[in-house]
Amino acid sequence: MKQTYSFVAFILLFTAIGHTSFAQKRPKNVVFMIGDGMGLAQVYAAMVANGNKLELERCTHTGFSKTYSSSHFTTDSGAGGTALACGVKTKNHMIGMSPDTIAVPSILEEAAKSKLATGLVVACSVTHATPASFVAHQPDREMNDEIAADFLKSDIDVFIGGGRKYFEQRIDKRNLTNELKAKKFQIAYTLDDVKSANGPKLAGLLYDDQNPAMPERGKMLPEATMMAIDLLDNNSKGFFLMVEGSQIDWACHNNQLDQSIKEVLDFDQTVGKVLDYAQKSGNTLVIITADHETGGLTLHDGKMGSSDIKHSFSSKVHTGVMVPVYAYGPGAENFTGIMENTAFKGKIEKLLGFKK
Ligand code: MG
Ligand code: ZN
Repeated sequence: MKQTYSFVAFILLFTAIGHTSFAQKRPKNVVFMIGDGMGLAQVYAAMVANGNKLELERCTHTGFSKTYSSSHFTTDSGAGGTALACGVKTKNHMIGMSPDTIAVPSILEEAAKSKLATGLVVACSVTHATPASFVAHQPDREMNDEIAADFLKSDIDVFIGGGRKYFEQRIDKRNLTNELKAKKFQIAYTLDDVKSANGPKLAGLLYDDQNPAMPERGKMLPEATMMAIDLLDNNSKGFFLMVEGSQIDWACHNNQLDQSIKEVLDFDQTVGKVLDYAQKSGNTLVIITADHETGGLTLHDGKMGSSDIKHSFSSKVHTGVMVPVYAYGPGAENFTGIMENTAFKGKIEKLLGFKK
């Protein structure tokens, strides 16, 4: 009987260490999740509409990120993505470069160099500014053909989003899909193709250009994200995955709060699935933030559980305010307080123990 008690105590202790206090101080895997345009008001509106609850609330650590770029008080998603991915402030519209147009390696590229599996899953064209910042190096975010070609130069293992035409209907007549196949990529044109992929390399080009908005997009983002993790976590050294809720920004450019709520809830559902995985694995750090706020959204009045919120937008473009940071898993305590948007890369590299 006594033996049984001590065995139970041991199991309880083991469970507590494994799931609550993260026995390993360093993560093996990192999932970096970006809600494009997702300021505090966008998060709170979705929380109110969702009955005073979001998956995001499971994060144990929170902070703020300063979003200004090297050229502007208010960043665009090119400079914002580049700061998050490459750890440098650059000029608006630039992708993966310093202001003097020198290419700067991204955290995804550093992870690939250290033999981790790498991926990105986004709710827009994979060539759009945010994902591009993790893979490409170009002076202007509008250079979709050049950005698509940069995917061939990278060591990325899995990428899923839209943007098929930039790979297959190009001004230079290259067929990048065929070139990807030659590099041992499986090509997925539908979410079902993604689900039946067995890796290790997968290019998911699910839409000709941009992914549709919610609700037409369905469960693309959460399901593709979990499929990507399923492929990436076969690598014994670990993985780095970037996930973007891309269209919160677009809803707020259009000053549509209802649509912003739908996009934040889609992103939040994805966050919930990633946190479930992180909780189970015990060795996965999840960081969630935004590249900037969009629309200058203000919430004036409302009721918990109702999406009917009295609100106003002060802008049709981005604003310069700080954005929230949320973290969960081993190393999450490094993402508290107020930080520059250029700080993420160095913090993640240090935690993953990359040798320079
Ligand atoms: Mg974006
Ligand atoms: Zn925008």
